Amino acid sequence: MELEKQTLEQFKGQSRLPEFAIPIRYDLTLKLDLSACNFYGKLLIDVSIKGFTKFLVLNALELEFHQVSFINSQNLKYVPSDVLIDSDDEILVLVFEEGLDVGNGVLEIEYSGVLNEHLKGLYRCTYLDKGEKKNMVSTQFEAIDARRCFPCWDEPALKATFKIRLENIPSELTALSNMPISKEIIHESHKTVHFEESIVMSTYLVAIVVGLYDCIEDTTDDGIKVRVYCPVGLSEKGKFALNIAVKTLEFFTMYFSMPYPLPKLDMVAIPEFAGGAMENYGLITYREDMLLQDELHSAAANIQRLTIVVAHEVAHHWFGNLVTMEWWTHIWLNEGFATWVSYLVTDILFPEWKIWNLFLQETIEGLSMDSLEQSHPIEVEIPQARSVLEYFDAISYQKGSAVIRMIQNYLGDEIFQKSLASYMKMYAFKNAKTEDLWNVLTETSGVEVSSIMDIWTKQKGYPVISVKLNNSTLEFEQTQFFSSALNSDAQWIVPLTLSLGSYSEQKKFLLESKIGQLNIEDFFGGNEKIVAENWWIKINSNQASFYRVKYDDNLAARLRKAIASNLLSASDEFGILDDAFALCEACLMPFSSLLYMMDTYRKELEYIVLSRLIDVCYSASKILREAIPKLASDLNQFFISLLLSSAEKLGWEATPGESQSNALMREEVLMALANFGHPQTTEEAIKRFRAFINDENTSLLPVDTRKAAYVAVMRNTSTADRSGLQLLQKLYREVDAVQEKTRILRCIASCPDPTIVAEVLDYMLSDEVRHQDAIYVLHGISWEARATAWTWFKVNWDLILKKWGAEMLFAHFVRDIITPFCCDEMANEVEVFFASHPLPSIELNLKQSVELVRIKARWIQHIIMDDQDQQLITDQFVTCYASY
Ligand SMILES: [Zn+2]
Repeated sequence: MELEKQTLEQFKGQSRLPEFAIPIRYDLTLKLDLSACNFYGKLLIDVSIKGFTKFLVLNALELEFHQVSFINSQNLKYVPSDVLIDSDDEILVLVFEEGLDVGNGVLEIEYSGVLNEHLKGLYRCTYLDKGEKKNMVSTQFEAIDARRCFPCWDEPALKATFKIRLENIPSELTALSNMPISKEIIHESHKTVHFEESIVMSTYLVAIVVGLYDCIEDTTDDGIKVRVYCPVGLSEKGKFALNIAVKTLEFFTMYFSMPYPLPKLDMVAIPEFAGGAMENYGLITYREDMLLQDELHSAAANIQRLTIVVAHEVAHHWFGNLVTMEWWTHIWLNEGFATWVSYLVTDILFPEWKIWNLFLQETIEGLSMDSLEQSHPIEVEIPQARSVLEYFDAISYQKGSAVIRMIQNYLGDEIFQKSLASYMKMYAFKNAKTEDLWNVLTETSGVEVSSIMDIWTKQKGYPVISVKLNNSTLEFEQTQFFSSALNSDAQWIVPLTLSLGSYSEQKKFLLESKIGQLNIEDFFGGNEKIVAENWWIKINSNQASFYRVKYDDNLAARLRKAIASNLLSASDEFGILDDAFALCEACLMPFSSLLYMMDTYRKELEYIVLSRLIDVCYSASKILREAIPKLASDLNQFFISLLLSSAEKLGWEATPGESQSNALMREEVLMALANFGHPQTTEEAIKRFRAFINDENTSLLPVDTRKAAYVAVMRNTSTADRSGLQLLQKLYREVDAVQEKTRILRCIASCPDPTIVAEVLDYMLSDEVRHQDAIYVLHGISWEARATAWTWFKVNWDLILKKWGAEMLFAHFVRDIITPFCCDEMANEVEVFFASHPLPSIELNLKQSVELVRIKARWIQHIIMDDQDQQLITDQFVTCYASY
């Protein structure tokens, strides 16, 4: 670029920094003041000037600059004539009138900043030391908040090494960063901590933690030291996570044929944390309940979640940290792969968990977000880096991991693993784009992978495949699936897998255009077998791919029969139910057909199927309460009747040696019956809760049944009798296990009395509930209190905005408070409110939430208009169960 053409204006509104200078090495000294909550930074950046320039442009936000200079390789010092800060574009522009020549130099910056309370950048939070609240420091830089801690080229592709030094650290505190400590100098009550220089890495992976910790450690086969840092006195609770980290680190080293490049891996529990965990290179930070396990208070679901989360973060050390996406457009390469591979390793560590079945819960989150008009492609344009946070969503994680599973399934395990090892070797310490991965897969497999996959990652949405059996020919037709039933011409190349009457008779078929045909007569040696009564066809075998299926009446009836006869796998039972629900929601199937389908599941079920059935019951009952209120209570009996035999079989107490899935089922099914107000379950729950309150060590309320008890208690709390709420709040204060505290928060807003819920929401704003934990309360708000919650939200808007407005957590307020509504009037009201209260950071979330409300509104209208469907519901599902 010619000198005279360079002006400040050209750097404004750009998505990327100009390329005429890049960083090689950062030497950062931070002097922290934990009492005054600020810091002073001294930064030396080795910079390579790529083209003669008057400007150096880097990222910085909310920092104050005291001294800036540039020293070139001939030791000539340049002081900028202007130091310009643009907080909209989050850049620092240094103007050097004489211009800087091509070559290396050192940029020296002295600056200061504040330890903020918004859980991003370098932030302050508190821990309890013998009952006293004290300050500590943590970081959260992903996606683009390293710039709040030090000025930098804050883009994933601009990797560099980091040498970090921390000064003025109270001697009793532990100071951690990505690398091991090289030197510690103690000056009476304070110390200076030097860390070794890092390997090359992206800025978003740099991390610092300073706090009071106990730690435990172990070593991998390769001699990597793994430590877990827990609150003082609680290091026992880190043992489970430590074991998972060691095992997964060893597994990934083998699976990717690539060693872990650092000498240590630390994992640390942070008392206030925006996300679930963060894969900083060599220093993974976690929410406490994602890292600490407790014999008495961790339910089966907690333990599985913890395993998946630890495996996911460790996996990032290959997918993300070693090979990093070139730009945020490819964030799915990080998140999709870490998600998929975390299931892969968990399945090896705990085969009895049947974790691939649970992966389907991830997939349906992707399917449901991607059926919105307001969805986005996996590879998403990120014109403004700040907006990337909204894309850490079900498309990047869940759809991303599902399409990876789809292509892995298509290419086969061995080729896939071999390709990933080549990919790691080729791009280690560098950056990669989606097409780089496709190229490696193509080279190893000989299959033109991008021709199949491009459309899945570059185009939003997915197809529903309608399938008909015409004599002995299967006829397929694909259309894009929208929950709003929008029309679209989009098409995909769909790798179809079919099970034909048994799992040993499988067939693969690539649907490459809108319609396709497959003659199955030869496959069965004649037409006779096809018409045989017990014969069935399941498309998308074991739900390994990302699409939905709509069967003709004949095929659907055969599948119902196959389900009732226990001929299908749990994942197929899950998929058929989930597709039926989605098709019904999109008004492509009458409600009575969904109820018929649900009725087929009145039998012994595996966890994953029962869990989906419960969720479908919840959703269906809310829709029916609006659409046909006069039948609501009778249909409530129908839902209870579907779940009751599972609950009776599981009982309230574990049998010795029972499977983990029994514990998972017990938790969900008892809670569902408490939610549906089943009298015997409620009575039993309250009785056991009382015993637990009197004696915390009672065997009457095992950990996996507590949610049901807490919900039953809250469902029976009202302004006339508030003792339930008071008891739960007391328990919340007294218990120290974080997972128990979380459990209480998740249930405490489930009360049907709106006044109590408003009180609970106020309680959530108080100092008693940690800032980060508001999301649990919000998620549990009862359906009956939705209007109250919306009013409360509007009244408290300023306060909520001040506390959470700058954070990712704010999106939970929007989603959890808006999406329970199901009429167009409310959707309009929400839009009007946000038109006068705009917040760019939640724009996508808001649009999706409003769309979800309108989808339900349309669904309800559709049921109201369909007299025949209503009659069928009354005849078949009310009269049978009304007296139940
Ligand atoms: Zn991740």
